[in-house]
Amino acid sequence: STYAVDVAGLRKQFYVRQKRLGARPQVVHAVSDISFKLQSGQTLGIVGESGCGKSTLARLLMGLIEADDGSVLLAGQVLGSRPEQLAAVRRKVQMVFQDSFASLNPRLSIEASLMFGPQVHGVSRTEARQTAHELLARVGLEPARFAGRYPHEVSGGQRQRVNIARALALKPEIVIFDEAVSALDKSVELQVLNLLLDLKAEFGLTYLFISHDLNVVQYISDEVMVMYLGKVVEMGPVESVYAHPAHPYTRALLASMPSMDPRQRTQAAPIVGDPPSPIDPPSGCRFRTRCPHAVAACAEGEPLLRAAGSDGHRVACHLTLTGGGAL
Ligand code: SF4
Ligand code: MG
Repeated sequence: STYAVDVAGLRKQFYVRQKRLGARPQVVHAVSDISFKLQSGQTLGIVGESGCGKSTLARLLMGLIEADDGSVLLAGQVLGSRPEQLAAVRRKVQMVFQDSFASLNPRLSIEASLMFGPQVHGVSRTEARQTAHELLARVGLEPARFAGRYPHEVSGGQRQRVNIARALALKPEIVIFDEAVSALDKSVELQVLNLLLDLKAEFGLTYLFISHDLNVVQYISDEVMVMYLGKVVEMGPVESVYAHPAHPYTRALLASMPSMDPRQRTQAAPIVGDPPSPIDPPSGCRFRTRCPHAVAACAEGEPLLRAAGSDGHRVACHLTLTGGGAL
């Protein structure tokens, strides 16, 4: 298939032990029946408040945790739980985290960190070093100056460039970014985003880009997926969703974007307060406790994703909302 990512009916629950003796563990529906497809070479932005399941989804796709249900195809390979299935997928999918120290061994030089993964996969030392230096140069870090340094000896922005190089060293087809630019200064953030766009085109990569920053997601993504309490509430082409948000939650998120073009700004009020606990989500529509448009029916049936346009734009809401409508 031409899909780099094909996810169907993905579910993951966690059990949270209670402090009270003898109390039964509580269930958190971290990822609740998520399905989507992403064309090769595209970037899917995944947005939502913390706790909405974005990071759990990323860890499921990386095979770092095992799903309870559902199927995942990555670059045409089934993500299974057997070691050889995991190994096959792991080479094709790499991840860059928010914490630029997280995947770097503090005792390894930058060069050694970049050589480590390929050498584990049987690449010779000479070739691994050559690739490391090429990638350092490619991400804007002069090899002669940076190869021998240690993670704590470079800036946060430089360290994130090292992480990007490290992810690319295994020649992945898919890269997952989990808040990967969120810790960077705005000017550095833009440089790194432009680097990511260049690398995607050059290496034919597919990106999953998790972020709470809707401006960043708009800048880098082709498609966007909005999550709320473990569910997808809206998805579709970025232009479509940003210009005509159909879900009250998406509208509220967009209304709180700081530098949103006023012509595109929706009339919706920004969202306030925290989402309810994912341990005991509201019945029916999970957004109903914060939704200004909730009606009685919203407490009963759970809204399913349905078409909100002819371009793949989909929304899960009982109301028929149209862009710029009278909400
Ligand atoms: Fe609001 Fe009801 Fe739509 Fe949920 S289904 S977003 S509560 S209007
Ligand atoms: Mg997170």
